[in-house]
Amino acid sequence: MRIPAPAREVMEVLQNAGYAAYLVGGAVRDLLLGRTPSDLDVATSARPEDVRSLFARTLDTGIRHGTVSVWSAGCWIEVTTFRAEGPYGDGRRPDFVRFVDDVEADLARRDFTINAMALDLDGRLVDPFDGRGDLARRLLRAVGDPVARFREDGLRLVRAVRFSVQLDLTCDPATEAALAETADAIRPIALERIGRELVRLSHAPWHAHLQTLASTPLWRRRGEPLAWLEQGFPWLASQGRFSLAPPAGWPSVALWFVGVDNGPLRARRFAEALAYGKDAARRIERAVQLAQAWARGVDAASPEMLYEAGRASAEMAARMISFLARGDVFEVARWKRAIRAQPLWDRSDLALPADDLIAMGLRGKEIGECQKSLVRQILRGEIQNQPDALRREVMARRKRGDDHGPG
Ligand code: ATP
Ligand code: MG
Repeated sequence: MRIPAPAREVMEVLQNAGYAAYLVGGAVRDLLLGRTPSDLDVATSARPEDVRSLFARTLDTGIRHGTVSVWSAGCWIEVTTFRAEGPYGDGRRPDFVRFVDDVEADLARRDFTINAMALDLDGRLVDPFDGRGDLARRLLRAVGDPVARFREDGLRLVRAVRFSVQLDLTCDPATEAALAETADAIRPIALERIGRELVRLSHAPWHAHLQTLASTPLWRRRGEPLAWLEQGFPWLASQGRFSLAPPAGWPSVALWFVGVDNGPLRARRFAEALAYGKDAARRIERAVQLAQAWARGVDAASPEMLYEAGRASAEMAARMISFLARGDVFEVARWKRAIRAQPLWDRSDLALPADDLIAMGLRGKEIGECQKSLVRQILRGEIQNQPDALRREVMARRKRGDDHGPG
């Protein structure tokens, strides 16, 4: 197992300065699985202030908890001092952390055995909870007493679902029982933290685990907006097996809402609550609108509906529909064609700019009304989106008196 260069370089500097240093957590797990780690975490006996003094470029990411980010070979590496955690008074975070000198104590605070391994520069694996064996058995098992661990930090419940889906793991029976017993521990967990796990879920092959996602009580226990997933996943599960992998990221989040009452609006509120940003949330809303119409048998690839959705959402919806239709070549081609043939996506795509309308004598509100009507006619295929055709139509409208208001 080769430790990726950016982490290796950090570990060498720490070791040369006399400290212990290990690659830890998800990166070790992913290397054992032959996956590319998404981020690199290093654990060390060095204290945060020592870490800061050893590297040129650092960030105080979570200095009170011992974490300093170090810039190395083009990426940020999180370097965290070995630590043990005090009691969890609030079900979210430890009341205090205490720096310790050995890596095993640090590994004991981690959530699952597969995440509680450390690897040193000589390739030696520190694995006190047999995470490697669990990986080979494809088993997700909490470190220590699962009930206590989930009660300490309810985010681990969501992480359990995320890891079992992402890595195709089965829960160890005691961990499984604890998940049901402690489901309420999700209540005090911040949506942003849950959101980060759901984003990772949206990049995983979740379509192969819809029964798990549909049957977990977690969404309901956390209340809205998470509770809406309680309708979204069962709807997807009821659609039978999906043969294609879903598109990763946003379109997956949108797919989770296709089967939800009021899906478009709820998808937007869900996305906003999970800190996705307003624009992204609006795009998701409109994509759900199209996909939901399609799922109800409406011809959602019409120029009017595509225009209303906007280009980004229409493209997202096309990918969602390709997934829902299991790659049905006819349907996929139809959406591609409709998007390619869409005459315009926005008023600003009109071949006759507003300046020309002003030059033709239109004023104030007339301009917007005229544009709106031109857009409608183009979408209906009544006129072409070309300067001459539009100019002729504007003149005809003026002759008819369409743009002069009542009377
Ligand atoms: P990914 O590959 O998706 O980043 P990860 O396992 O690395 O997954 P991170 O959130 O990056 O997850 O956390 C890094 C490590 O920190 C974990 O592998 C685990 O050892 C520990 N950890 C993270 N969150 C928790 C938690 N809530 N409780 C206990 N340990 C945790
Ligand atoms: Mg990680």
